[in-house]
Amino acid sequence: MTGSTTSDNDFALAIHGGAGTILRSKMTPEREAAYHAGLRRALDAGRTVLADGGAALDAVSAAVMALEDEPLFNAGRGAVYTSAGKQEMDAAVMDGRDRSAGAVAGICGPRNPVLAARAVMEHSGHVILIGESAMEFCRKQGLAFEEPSYFFTEQRWNALQETLAMRNSGADDQDESRKHGTVGAVARDRHGNLAAATSTGGMTAKAPGRVGDSPVIGAGTWADNETCAISATGHGEIFIRYAAAHEIASRMRYAGQSLEKASHAVVIDMLAPAGGSGGIVAVDHAGNVSLPFNCSGMYRGMVKGDGRLLTAIYDEPLVDFGRI
Ligand code: ASP
Repeated sequence: MTGSTTSDNDFALAIHGGAGTILRSKMTPEREAAYHAGLRRALDAGRTVLADGGAALDAVSAAVMALEDEPLFNAGRGAVYTSAGKQEMDAAVMDGRDRSAGAVAGICGPRNPVLAARAVMEHSGHVILIGESAMEFCRKQGLAFEEPSYFFTEQRWNALQETLAMRNSGADDQDESRKHGTVGAVARDRHGNLAAATSTGGMTAKAPGRVGDSPVIGAGTWADNETCAISATGHGEIFIRYAAAHEIASRMRYAGQSLEKASHAVVIDMLAPAGGSGGIVAVDHAGNVSLPFNCSGMYRGMVKGDGRLLTAIYDEPLVDFGRI
């Protein structure tokens, strides 16, 4: 879906809370309303920054923090479990002004992994820090930490048990909703700058130490003022192998494709046939927004300068539920 072009001093923010086989039949009206509310809170957090003339980088950080704090989504609080019953979170941020980037992988402790990624970008001199050393760095940076009980949700724990039981019985787990999830945000601020942020617990029952596409710059996260900002969600291994986010930016840069054309070509024509189920949220330098996905649903939303918080879950138009 493409929004109208943003005027020069207007802003645009798009978010996702994961993609996959999201079936209406498995959703209660209460749960559906909770997802919309969670998305709207995140949009509102980012909108507040952008409406004040704040930076895209601050807006995507604020939106992703709100999604990480919401246990319904697979990032921060509510992250999924590895096959060893631990949570290992990945996150990244990228600033389209100068392509500075920061990421963390395999961490559990910092309350908001997106802030850990941002600290790496701003204070480490590196792009990616992992595991225990990343957490040591975060402690030194004074980031807020939480106990494992803060991140625990019964739903994710049960999903792990079901996936492991299926794996042990030799069955293939077809339920994508049990496997997936990630949160992310992209923004274009009033100064024309772009930024992206992505945060995830990864995939349920992943191998300990497995890192997905979210913290891999150019795969699950990308921002460059000249082209676009992208945050992806889906089968990370495929998104990495196809350098999904960077592929979209390259099509715009070298083939002159529009954001809409490039993002559809990658998500629908390239990733889907390769088994890369999922989707992306994207914004370009002109403030166009594109939200393609190649599965039955993606928790998603967007807001522009008119302040309307638009959200959707299934293959359906975005809906405005009125003011928060
Ligand atoms: N892309 C994430 C990963 O592979 C999972 C997801 O978005 O569903 O870690």
